[in-house]
Amino acid sequence: MEPRSLLAREWLGPVVALEAADRRATNDLRATLPPAIESEQDRYHGPFNRDSRREDFAVTAIKLDGKALAIQIQAEIADQVSRLKETRGIQPCLATVLVGEDPASQVYIRNKLAACERVGMISRHVTLPNTTTQAELLGALSELNADDSVHGILVQLPLPEQIDSMVVLDAIAPHKDVDAFHPHNVGLLSQGRPHFLPCTPHGVVQVLARHQITTAGKEVVIVGRSDIVGKPLALMLAQKDSHLGPEYANATVTLAHSRTANLADVTRRADILVAAIGKPEFIRGAMIKPSAVVIDVGINRIERGLVGDVHYAEACEVASAITPVPGGIGPLTVTMLLHNTLTAAS
Ligand code: NDP
Repeated sequence: MEPRSLLAREWLGPVVALEAADRRATNDLRATLPPAIESEQDRYHGPFNRDSRREDFAVTAIKLDGKALAIQIQAEIADQVSRLKETRGIQPCLATVLVGEDPASQVYIRNKLAACERVGMISRHVTLPNTTTQAELLGALSELNADDSVHGILVQLPLPEQIDSMVVLDAIAPHKDVDAFHPHNVGLLSQGRPHFLPCTPHGVVQVLARHQITTAGKEVVIVGRSDIVGKPLALMLAQKDSHLGPEYANATVTLAHSRTANLADVTRRADILVAAIGKPEFIRGAMIKPSAVVIDVGINRIERGLVGDVHYAEACEVASAITPVPGGIGPLTVTMLLHNTLTAAS
């Protein structure tokens, strides 16, 4: 059995081409997940796939707990890691590169290294001073590219201003590009045959799939068109098929941004609304269609702590389900990085 199809069979991870048998197995695994919460609406329309025209009862959104899901998926990855080690003597290794001393970046790196340790992966961390030149950073990357014991490479962004991030990301070997930012991987994604899926969009799709919130035929509105979240997620959901099957693709996707006219009219069309804007509590309750599913990718630090791009309290009164911040998409992003590192090592 090919290592990649082994992954496909036993985990809901990215696979270039899934055969029918693999799909059935993936569905079997999905069936072992805890049953989605039932409500009066569910009896009519199934969990989260409700008729959003029904507004005749008050809705309190169900929390889509990304933290709990991340723990579950990391346990599955840990299993795969130990099997890979036993059967082929390979222990996946992620190399992280941090230039400078930005405190937020240091926290992100620490989280990633801790996650590697939790699932039994090796991590290697390279720290370079803030004064590092582009040539020096490219030199460090070229060593990591050539090192067969390193399977995945991640350069923490943002980089100091003397360094062109695009040049640096282009220099990572595509088969070690676990962030999936290299044009080679972006091209494969746009053609619907990804090798690695970008981590945050993949986290969004996993949250949906593991709660059996299908996207086929639905109106999905994504607010935010960045290269790391909005754009790749739009590509993934608009494809004819996905590694989880066609039910988790085939959406009618609208990609909104700062120049979108009448944004609230657009967001109110969404059966599934994704916010990736970077503006605290920007999406208000009145911008959400009753019973919509809301995925809040935003992470904003304000005086009272971390908040998302969605006004959580207002959204809870309108939506059928919502990801919290913190504890929503964030933990899944790190988890999908581990998944990509496992894929790279396999
Ligand atoms: P970017 O700043 O790269 O992109 C923001 C997008 O939001 C842009 O497309 C921008 O439009 C759009 N936007 C800004 N203002 C408005 C507005 N008033 N109306 C409509 N659209 C608007 O952000 P990222 O995609 O990198 O990140 C978005 C958020 O997600 C941030 O809070 C970030 O911290 C968080 N994030 C969370 C991750 C996680 O793991 N949970 C991972 C990555 C990001 P335009 O293109 O026109 O400028």
